[in-house]
Amino acid sequence: MDLENCRGIMVYCEIDVCGIIDNSLELIGHANTLKEKMEHYPEVTAVIIGSDVGSLITVAARHGADRVIMMDNPRYRVYRPDLYSDALAAAAEKYRPEILLVGASLSGEEIGPTVAMKLHTGMAAHCVELKIRDDGQFVQVVPAFGGKVLGDILCPGFRPQMASMKAGMVSKRIFEGKVAEIESFDPDVRGFGDRLQVIETIPETRKRVSLSNAELVVTGGFGIGTQEGWDKLEHMAELLHGVSTCTRPALDAGWTDKEETMVGTSGVAIKPKVYLGFGVSGAAHHTCGIKGAGLIISVNRDANAPIFEVSDFKVVSDWEAIVNAITARLEATSAVCPDPDRA
Ligand SMILES: Cc1cc2nc3c(=O)[nH]c(=O)nc-3n(C[C@H](O)[C@H](O)[C@H](O)COP(=O)(O)OP(=O)(O)OC[C@H]3O[C@@H](n4cnc5c(N)ncnc54)[C@H](O)[C@@H]3O)c2cc1C
Repeated sequence: MDLENCRGIMVYCEIDVCGIIDNSLELIGHANTLKEKMEHYPEVTAVIIGSDVGSLITVAARHGADRVIMMDNPRYRVYRPDLYSDALAAAAEKYRPEILLVGASLSGEEIGPTVAMKLHTGMAAHCVELKIRDDGQFVQVVPAFGGKVLGDILCPGFRPQMASMKAGMVSKRIFEGKVAEIESFDPDVRGFGDRLQVIETIPETRKRVSLSNAELVVTGGFGIGTQEGWDKLEHMAELLHGVSTCTRPALDAGWTDKEETMVGTSGVAIKPKVYLGFGVSGAAHHTCGIKGAGLIISVNRDANAPIFEVSDFKVVSDWEAIVNAITARLEATSAVCPDPDRA
């Protein structure tokens, strides 16, 4: 795409059974923050792809969309990466945004790079910050070298400039009463055609853990060491009425299957009132996900662990001794008074 004729910010709206996912709504809000620093104060365009999804227009508008491109067709009833990426690429080709944002969800990570390839442009994945520099350049900040440095990615020669960002990195914004301009767009996309067929859809049975309203989070890192240790940590988290989360190595070790509770650049960003970390080293890939936490309390047996640099309270100790002590205290308290509000 030629640089001169591209305008505005486009956001791909991912949909689940409840509607537009928070990750996409956050990006629409953030696009408004970006546009305030851009020349000509460009439009924020939300792209909705799905079947029978008209009711989502007001949701996109309320979260900041100036314009909504509706790609509403039964062919999009079930998510298919081939059709959805063709559709989003077609929308970008027609409406020519300067910037195209995608949530770094499982499907966003699939669609984003596919669309970038189709449009012959670059894409920065898992950005922890997206900003407009004083000279108007769009800057996509990505951790590099195991999270030890943050790199500024620029894409001055191609359009659209594409970026993905995980949920929770930026906050949703509400634009009460806002009305968006609506355009229907139904390009003849075919994807892989009949070569790919949906034979059956199996709804997810496990209820996914929501971290958006979690006030107390207990995070376990690789220092927990064993499945038995992990179960002990989760038990304490339950007694505290907190939500347990993990680092990437703890997830990879298989101690938990709740991948949605992994905190960090390739996981989620969280904003609890209290973060309790056990056996977490404090790599930037993880700590960028807890920037919004209130009180950070960490337990690590290494007094020089980087996690202590971002902690309000530092406990140099074996994690198990602390967890055992807290658990014993909570079990004794709840035996006397089962009402957590009064204990
Ligand atoms: C592209 C990319 C994306 C990534 N995304 C993420 C992400 O989203 N989230 C994430 O978490 N990681 C992510 N990582 C991995 C990240 O770089 C770190 O490797 C990871 O966060 C380290 O996890 P950890 O602290 O659990 O393990 P480790 O680094 O192994 O640290 C374990 C800690 O436990 C302590 N310890 C050991 N035994 C005990 C004990 N008995 N008691 C107390 N303390 C003990 C040790 O002193 C150590 O500090 C990513 C990496 C890459 C390359």
